[in-house]
Order: sequence, then C-alpha cells, then structure tokens
Amino acid sequence: MSAVPEARIPHHPLISLDPAERLRHARGQSLPDWVEMRSGRVRTFPAGVATPQSEDDIRALFDYAREHGVVLIPYGGGTSVVGHINPEPDAPPAVTVDLSQLSELEYLDETSRLATFGAGVRGPLLEAALRARGYTLGHFPQSFEYSTLGGWIATRSSGQQSLYYGRIEDLFAGGRMVTPAGTLDMPPYPASAAGPDLRHAVLGSEGRMGIITRAIVRVSPLPEAESFHGVFFPAWEAGVEAVREMVQARLPLSMLRLSNAAETEANLTLAGRETFVNFAHRGLGLLGHERGEKCMLVIGATGSSRSVRQARREANYIARRHGGLPVGPMMGTIWLKSRFRTPYLRNTLWETGYAVDTLETIVPWADIPRTAEAVINSLHRASEALGERVYVFAHLSHVYPTGASIYVTVIFRVQPDPDHTLEHWRRMKCAASETIVAHGGTISHQHGVGTDHAPYLAAEKGPLGIGLLQAAIRHCDPTGILNPGKLVAGVDARTVEGDAPC
Ligand SMILES: Cc1cc2nc3c(=O)[nH]c(=O)nc-3n(C[C@H](O)[C@H](O)[C@H](O)COP(=O)(O)OP(=O)(O)OC[C@H]3O[C@@H](n4cnc5c(N)ncnc54)[C@H](O)[C@@H]3O)c2cc1C
Repeated sequence: MSAVPEARIPHHPLISLDPAERLRHARGQSLPDWVEMRSGRVRTFPAGVATPQSEDDIRALFDYAREHGVVLIPYGGGTSVVGHINPEPDAPPAVTVDLSQLSELEYLDETSRLATFGAGVRGPLLEAALRARGYTLGHFPQSFEYSTLGGWIATRSSGQQSLYYGRIEDLFAGGRMVTPAGTLDMPPYPASAAGPDLRHAVLGSEGRMGIITRAIVRVSPLPEAESFHGVFFPAWEAGVEAVREMVQARLPLSMLRLSNAAETEANLTLAGRETFVNFAHRGLGLLGHERGEKCMLVIGATGSSRSVRQARREANYIARRHGGLPVGPMMGTIWLKSRFRTPYLRNTLWETGYAVDTLETIVPWADIPRTAEAVINSLHRASEALGERVYVFAHLSHVYPTGASIYVTVIFRVQPDPDHTLEHWRRMKCAASETIVAHGGTISHQHGVGTDHAPYLAAEKGPLGIGLLQAAIRHCDPTGILNPGKLVAGVDARTVEGDAPC
C-alpha cells in the first residue's frame, strides 16, 4: 500500500494537508483509477485539498498558486471516468479545489424558469431544491448521486432523459466562471446573435480555463406523467431502424435505450428475469420470428398524461412495424429502479475477479451498425492477442434525428499483477479509440476528454481547432495553473496528422 507522501507546500488557511482528504481526492472513477486505488499503488496525490466558500477564496487560491508554483485541480464530485482530476506525474504540486461548499439554490425565477445554483451542487440536492418548488432540471446521468452541476457543464454531460430535457448544453443558460485572468459573466440570454456564444467555450472546458462558480439553468415544471416500457426485437438491426424512425418522427419521448443481444441477456439475467426472456422468445416466435437473438428497447415518455399515452402508442406502432413485441411496463420499471444502482455491480464483479469498463462515441445513423460491430471486434481482437477472453455488450442510449451514441461495456479478468490488468485495459482502450476515430466517431459523446482521450482529440478538431483551444486556455490562464495535462495535453504534431498514439 503506497503511503500518502508528506505534503511539501506552504501553509494556507483554505488548504487541508490531511492525508485522508488527499487520498479521497486523488482519483476519479476510470478503470486505471480503480486499479490504482484497489491495488494500493496510487502514484500521485494532491499535495492539499482546498474547500473555498466564495469566489474571493478562489481568487486567493489563484494568487497562492502563482506565488508558490502550485497547480489547481477543480473538483466537483470526482466521478470522472477519463482521468480529469488526477494530479499529473512529474508536474508541480497540485492542490485539488473541492467546490462542494458552493451548492446553494441562490435564486429561482419561476416566470422565466431559470434557477441559479452554486456550481458545486450535487444531483440529489439540486433536484430536491427544485422539486420543493415544483420544478426539475431533468438531468440524470448515471452518476447523478455524486456528480455536480459544475462537473456536468465542464464535461458536457448527458443525462438519461436527454431526449426530453436536453443535454447539459441545452440546460446551461449562463452563470459565472472565475479565471486567473478575470471573471467571465454569462448572462442567460434565451438566444443571441452577438458573435460566438462564449457559453459554449465554458461547456467542456474541463477545469482548464477557470472555475465555474455559479450556473443558471433552464428548469421545467415537474412532469404530470412519466412511463417506461419495454419492447423486444428479433434482431439488433430491426431495433436500430425502429429507434431511428421514432426519433426522426420527433415523438415526445424522453429516452430510447436499445440493448444488443448480449446486453439484453446480461440485463435480464442480472435482474433475475430469465423467465421473461423465455416469454419474449415465445412471443416473438408467435409473431413469426425464429428463435435467436433478442434485443430489448426501453422507451421512456415524459410530459402530460395525454402526450405520454400518445407517445407510447405511436412508439409501439413503429416498433411493431419493425417486428417488435411491446411487453408493457415491467422492464421499464426495473430499469427505472436500478438506474443509479447498476454501476455498483462493478464492485461485486471486481470482488469475483472481473473488471468492468465502458466507452462511448456517437456517429450518424448510417454508420451505426458497422461502427458498433468494429468497436466490439476491436476489443475482442486486442484481448485475444494477450490470450484473454472478454465479454462485451453495447447499447444505443442518446438518440438524435441524425445519429445515436454507442455505449460499450467490456468485462475482463483482473490479473494478479495490477500492471497486467492495466496493460490489458490500455491495449483495449487504444484499439477501441483508434477504431472510433477510423470510423469518424467522436472520441466522446458524454464522458469528456480528460487524459485518456486527449491523444485522440486532434483527430476531430484538427490543428487549427486545437490551436484555438490552446489560445483560449492561455488567455484565461496565462501562467498555466489550472488542471494541466487535461483536454489538450499530449496532443502533438504526430497525432494531429492521424498517427496512432499507441
Ligand atoms: C458510475 C458512473 C456513471 C456515469 N454516468 C454518466 C452519464 O450517464 N452521463 C455522463 O455524461 N457522464 C457520466 N459519468 C461521467 C461523470 O459522472 C461526468 O463526467 C460528470 O459530469 C462529472 O461530474 P463531477 O462533478 O463528478 O466532476 P469531476 O469528476 O469532479 O470533474 C470533471 C471535470 O470537470 C472539472 N470541473 C468540475 N467542476 C468544475 C467547476 N465548477 N468549474 C470548472 N471545472 C470543473 C474538473 O476539473 C474535471 O476536469 C458517469 C461516471 C460514473 C462513475
């Protein structure tokens, strides 16, 4: 077990040097983070953890960082899965800036349906404050319990019901970012033609430009009705076509989550509903489909009772035309109950010797079947080269009229030597990332860039785009004290030209 090394930074009243605090803030939730934390081989720790209570505290921390050659890592809930919040090796000492104290609902403008929150507010607290007044933000990433509003904005997060409520960029109306170069105020204009929208520079900034202290978000009245129901399809392709038709018909749905056959089987088995699979087999058989692969779609509808009923009817109509078998609310209810609990299976699987990782991208509809297949195959091939077998499954979860995100889960053996587990993961991650880039997919639909995806960013932004990002970061943070190594780090001329970094 690695000991937390002695902190060698000058005293500051806002900064705790407590080893437990430093350990707690040392890592996020990526697979390498897990391996390090579980094996006790954590290579880098923050030198301290600051908990500012105000914007003035944050400015004081900027002064401290400049004066003492320290870097600052903004920290929301620490749920990053791509290495956003880890101190860099061979870098100046890092102080993690935990924003949990900035968490108040400051103002609710019910007429305009705008709510102003401290950006460190976590999902449950934010929803509780709004629900008490009859509103919701409707942003429910699977990490909802721990992640924060500022983290969602800084990573361009997407919630499970984004089809109805929108992604965080649709919900983020304005606010304030305190940077080492000054303060950026973003008024909540409903729309504006006054040049590029700077709110979009803040979205996805990953703590590199400044610290988002306050966010104004668009809220909705609590919905009158909500329903989640299941449909089984005889094949993945049929399900994909049905989902595409549903979203392009612009039905008032809140979620369309289509699992491939492997994920369907895994989900039903984990939910203890094998009998349900048999029922689906029999039902699809009656509809004339051979026994074979079954793919489950969970359809969510949110809104007025009337619109929910109508959306469900129309979605089922489209599903049936593609050979789907609507099976009522049971599977939807199971999904709803376990939607924030499923990630904890990772703990149980780890105890039994298996690691779980996920990756995601988005491509246009026309490219979905071959991209999904290629990514899954790349994981198998990278593992076979090491003599390992893996269990891989996928689903489409965030759908748009022009395309859908592909979310892949891979389960693989934990090796006795943590370095071997990491090496297996690294090979799979490289193979899948290269496949995503080769198929024209974005390196991330919702998890962000951090360190794990930074080498692939240039492939989609190009040299000019990377230069623009670097210039914006330099402008806000001229001495480079904020979260170095994330987002645009590790991008060099070689990767800009498209060479694989692994
Ligand atoms: C089990 C699990 C499920 C997940 N499911 C989803 C999902 O459904 N959808 C999804 O989009 N993501 C998901 N994620 C990923 C993660 O939860 C998101 O990236 C989330 O937005 C991170 O928020 P956070 O508050 O935890 O930020 P952190 O992890 O603390 O930080 C992430 C980045 O944001 C920066 N940052 C945080 N707060 C601020 C601030 N106030 N100002 C400036 N920069 C800031 C940090 O410096 C860092 O670069 C999941 C993660 C886990 C572990």
